Amino acid sequence: MPELPEVETVKNTLKRQVIGKKIISVDVLYNMIDKPDVETFKKLVKNQTIIDIKRRGKFLMFELNDYYLLSHLRMEGKYFIDGNITRHDHVVFHFDDGILKYNDTRKFGKMYLIDKDKVYDEKPLSLLGLEPWDDKLNSDYLKDKLKNKRLPIKSLLLDQSIIVGIGNIYADEILFKSRINPLKRGCEIDNNDCDNIIKYTREILESAIKMGGTTIKSYESSRGVHGRFQDNLLVHNHEGDKCPDCKSIVVKTKVNGRGTYYCPKCQKNGD
Ligand SMILES: [Zn+2]
Repeated sequence: MPELPEVETVKNTLKRQVIGKKIISVDVLYNMIDKPDVETFKKLVKNQTIIDIKRRGKFLMFELNDYYLLSHLRMEGKYFIDGNITRHDHVVFHFDDGILKYNDTRKFGKMYLIDKDKVYDEKPLSLLGLEPWDDKLNSDYLKDKLKNKRLPIKSLLLDQSIIVGIGNIYADEILFKSRINPLKRGCEIDNNDCDNIIKYTREILESAIKMGGTTIKSYESSRGVHGRFQDNLLVHNHEGDKCPDCKSIVVKTKVNGRGTYYCPKCQKNGD
């Protein structure tokens, strides 16, 4: 699944290719448009120019003249600029000198077209928490969000209404670096834990973005980034391997259904 660093990489790659292009028409071959209805969507994007591409959480934000086109890649969404339409291409934007197509084998992706001045006030962006690099993300903010929660911290890091962009892989790595047991409850997380979570969230996501930025040449980016970043994972996918710090054996468990890896010695629960 593309996580924040992968989406950031897709954004940067697409920016080099489609900024300034005017959408002549759009074909929706499989309806992935959440809002508005598909006919309105097709009508409204016509003759809009792609001015910029931004990212908020794991949403790509194509800035058009009058709207933002939001795109969430979910499990397998990808963008391509080559010509042939294949059976997993679901939305095709036609420019006067080429196309941009959205491909999604699992069909879980979603698109939204929203008036520019309302984009942050409406769903889905209105539901999102702070970006990892937002100045407002500090231990007071995080402690306040966690203090009444009985859920495990692993699940709360995945909750996009608190901090955006942390996925399953990065949550394990952040908790390992922070020396926090993934099952520790939100209400048990102290200020020092919060400081560590914020520090390592930034550090780990930044390094993943840097790696993505150097590997990606096409839009088939998520796999490439994953492959490369996996060489640098400390505990995720390392069940049975030795902890890089204390040489204990890394274990795998499930936390609310998500595969979770940690070092039982470095990440003790209850102390
Ligand atoms: Zn250890």
